[in-house]
Amino acid sequence: MPIKNRFGQLHKDIIEWRHDFHQHPELLYEVHRTASRVADLLRDFGCNKVIEAVGQTGVVGVITGTESSSGKVVGLRADMDALPIMEEANVDYASKTPGKMHACGHDGHTAMLLGAAKYLCETRNFNGEAVVVFQPAEEGGAGAKAMIDEGLMERFKIQEIYGMHNMPGRAVGQFAICAGPILASADKFKVQITGKGGHAAVPHEAIDTTLIAAQILVNLNLIVSRSVDPLKRVVITAGTFKTDSNAANVIAHRVIMEGSVRCLDEDMRGLAEKRVTEVVEGIALAHGAKVNLVYERGYPVTVNHDVSTQYAIEVAKGISNDVVENADPIMPSEDFSYMLEARPGAFIFLGNGDSAMCHHPEYIFDDNAIPFGSSWYAGIIEARMPNGKFEN
Ligand SMILES: [Zn+2]
Ligand SMILES: [Zn+2]
Repeated sequence: MPIKNRFGQLHKDIIEWRHDFHQHPELLYEVHRTASRVADLLRDFGCNKVIEAVGQTGVVGVITGTESSSGKVVGLRADMDALPIMEEANVDYASKTPGKMHACGHDGHTAMLLGAAKYLCETRNFNGEAVVVFQPAEEGGAGAKAMIDEGLMERFKIQEIYGMHNMPGRAVGQFAICAGPILASADKFKVQITGKGGHAAVPHEAIDTTLIAAQILVNLNLIVSRSVDPLKRVVITAGTFKTDSNAANVIAHRVIMEGSVRCLDEDMRGLAEKRVTEVVEGIALAHGAKVNLVYERGYPVTVNHDVSTQYAIEVAKGISNDVVENADPIMPSEDFSYMLEARPGAFIFLGNGDSAMCHHPEYIFDDNAIPFGSSWYAGIIEARMPNGKFEN
């Protein structure tokens, strides 16, 4: 099963949908225009059911195969939201909204899944039900969780779920996946350290929060090298470090530092939270500063199920001869993790060539990847719910 011929014919349509989404980027749950175009297209294709407003602005389409005696239901997921980034990519379909941009390629994911839905509506060459899930708010809003909390899995009786993300740095046409953890958890901390401001020349009468915060920052990074098993992976990054002093000769009264903690398993996640708390509170106490720490758990680790990963690999191999089966996990996170906590399934990377990285203002989704992505989505449905006859 190479790229399905139909996707050669549909390629132009899918590109048109993507460029339209790209020109009209919307953030988080505010994906009203995108969701409504997705729903209209799904109805045009002839989906058996199209349900809007699941998880605020999520859209779900149900496609029944020529047979449904198997009782099987398999879900496919794409995300629809963009990012608050000013586009600098040199494309003739650039964002029409300054300060918003599809810099993570979710326009591509949505268009590729629409292509698969159109193909599946035309061919229905499977025994069961395909459920296409278009979610809002992947970029920090946990849109997947919002849809699950509104009963996505039970309402549509989804038994397995599959998702995909484009990946700059991997060749177009390449698929990459691994069983087990493939993307990290993403937790956040915010530390407010209050000391005693003063004159730079009289440090003994002050409590120097800048120096205390600097020690905390260095020691947070020692957690990675000294508390974490060297064979495990944890990232601790402070993204902000702000003192309330605006002058070289003033000792700051207060420092606020915010950061991100990434792990690939729950044990390390627990350890990191415990050690960050101990380091922050211990160092502040040692130097007489007051500290307020807020530690927030975000997206869980994205864990591919073993058997589903094998299915994902088999389908990918049918489409491309460039399939990396034991790819290294990476430390960004995905709210598809919530879907894989709810149901077995797998998440795969699709090469996006040498474009700038996701979330970069010059990032460009490669339209040549579309036939591979749409073929994989559709291929999962035909492989997991075979009708007894196969295309190609
Ligand atoms: Zn992103
Ligand atoms: Zn993304």
